[in-house]
Amino acid sequence: MNYKLARSNYRNLVVGADTKIPLHNGQLTTAINFDNAASTPPFVSVTEEIAKFSTMYSSIHRGTGYKSQYSSQLFEDARSVVLKFVNADPVQDTVIFVKNTTEAINKLSYRLWEGKKKSVILSTWMEHHSNDLPWRNKFQVDYVQTDLSGKLSIEDLESKLIKHKGNVKLVTVTGASNVTGYVNPIHKIAELAHRYRAKILVDGAQLVPHNPVNMKPKNPLHHIDYLAFSAHKMYAPFGTGVLIGPKETFKHGISEFVGGGTAETVTHDWVVWEKPPHKEEAGSPNVMGVVALVAAIKTLTALGMHNIDHYENQLTNYANSKLQSIPGITLYSQTAIGEPRIGVIPFNLKGIAHERVATILSNQAGIAVRTGCFCTQPYIQRLLSISPKQMEFYRKSVDAPRPGIVRVSFGLYNDFAEIDLLTQWLERIIKHPTTYI
Ligand code: PLP
Repeated sequence: MNYKLARSNYRNLVVGADTKIPLHNGQLTTAINFDNAASTPPFVSVTEEIAKFSTMYSSIHRGTGYKSQYSSQLFEDARSVVLKFVNADPVQDTVIFVKNTTEAINKLSYRLWEGKKKSVILSTWMEHHSNDLPWRNKFQVDYVQTDLSGKLSIEDLESKLIKHKGNVKLVTVTGASNVTGYVNPIHKIAELAHRYRAKILVDGAQLVPHNPVNMKPKNPLHHIDYLAFSAHKMYAPFGTGVLIGPKETFKHGISEFVGGGTAETVTHDWVVWEKPPHKEEAGSPNVMGVVALVAAIKTLTALGMHNIDHYENQLTNYANSKLQSIPGITLYSQTAIGEPRIGVIPFNLKGIAHERVATILSNQAGIAVRTGCFCTQPYIQRLLSISPKQMEFYRKSVDAPRPGIVRVSFGLYNDFAEIDLLTQWLERIIKHPTTYI
């Protein structure tokens, strides 16, 4: 294939892929978005569906009008669409609509919390803060090690499961890293967790938009108990996220938020709570967000998650091979051919601050990347070998420039030609570090 000429077959499926934006010199150029791990643009199908549904939109659940009943039905039917997309158990599992992955994990941490009893949560060194901080104030958290290249150590997972002697309540792990793009062997991790009588939560924020996810493969030991993900990272940026898990988890106890929609009967003396998922969705739900998510799932399913994974792998391999040849670049993720990963590439250019690289790419070429620590600071500290002593310095010196990394992350609409332009600009920046602003 002539990669330079190849355009993504998926390019026309997203809104604004060819939008013109101004450069620093005032000229217009086609925007290149290499920040899809943060958020993706919407699918055309999503905005069309939103517009179409708007004519029937109404308050849901307790309205008696035709539109309200129509909207309520659509909202409730969305749960089955989500369950099917990730092959969750339609009988045992429930889908709770939340704002995003962060809210989903906070909710689960609250619902698994046992008050004074401090059971153990096994998180890992590669987690986003959203899959670390919510566990800290409620559980004893231990972190599974990563190796020198930043990959999760399955040996350390097992030794920590043994060390905590059946007291591990949950192993909580990202499906794919938002820093290195490494894809974790979630079914192998599930098997280990279950062997030691723990459950598993997969933070699917980066995995679900790029790879097929199967919560219930044939072997029951491989089942994923809980899954969280965000619609805004999968071409439906309208404020919805998902938490999937067994109904049983949410049957007893009370949600962290209570109010309208969560109770069946209320007196000033007692409350009969709704059943899950409704008791977990306090207040008026985000109907438009759910309509958007369903439209995105339908489009992703029609395209085929395997096909998307395949195309994004080609992009990633191509980008890796191009970037590797740039003198003075350090790439922070290494995978062998065929090793699973998503299209996230972290790097730095020697002697040039990460923020400066990003600013020049934006100002001069209209290329959007992300820099810093991507809400995954302990992992970045490890990848950059920053010592606890150095971190103490940054703690006290609020204004000191912080270490960080430049990250490019691909969506299905990105092109090989865009990667060529990125490479050319990185080569220019490293050759003439002081020329550009
Ligand atoms: N987990 C991972 C791996 C992420 O990359 C992100 C966001 O980038 C999150 C969780 C949090 O997602 P959200 O901001 O949608 O809650």
